[in-house]
Amino acid sequence: MVIEQGKVVSIDYTLKNSNGEVLDSSEGREPLPYLHGAGNIIPGLEAALDGKSAGDQVNAVIEPEQAYGLRDDNQIGKVARTDLAGVGEISVGTQLQAQTPEGPRVVVVTAMDEESVTIDANHPLAGETLHFDVKVSDIREATPEELEHGHAHDGSGGCSH
Ligand code: ZN
Repeated sequence: MVIEQGKVVSIDYTLKNSNGEVLDSSEGREPLPYLHGAGNIIPGLEAALDGKSAGDQVNAVIEPEQAYGLRDDNQIGKVARTDLAGVGEISVGTQLQAQTPEGPRVVVVTAMDEESVTIDANHPLAGETLHFDVKVSDIREATPEELEHGHAHDGSGGCSH
């Protein structure tokens, strides 16, 4: 069986940035299952895994355009502190859920002064070239329910959606 649309694939992975710093890893955890072809993972990684078999090792260098996109200065803005009254304690680094025309998204506070708060709606990994070391752990057919939901379910059949 090879990785193609409609397969549930489990991967062990380590994600590093261009400086070699580990950003994320499945080490010490169960392999991550995802539904191939459903946009569950970034496009560049999905393309790199296409056609691979269980046991294959994949080293992929993925440019921002095929990962989390380029950083966009238009995604950075200032809001008045008074507009955030009721949000609770905030400081630099606080993540907030913002309502946007495209739906809810996470923004991060990057600066603050007496009157205003600067928030950045870019994905934290926007603009980063990502280096993935992946081992394909398992490939199986997706269940009809998984195909309908557009994501993989874990072995316990649990689904939070
Ligand atoms: Zn589901």
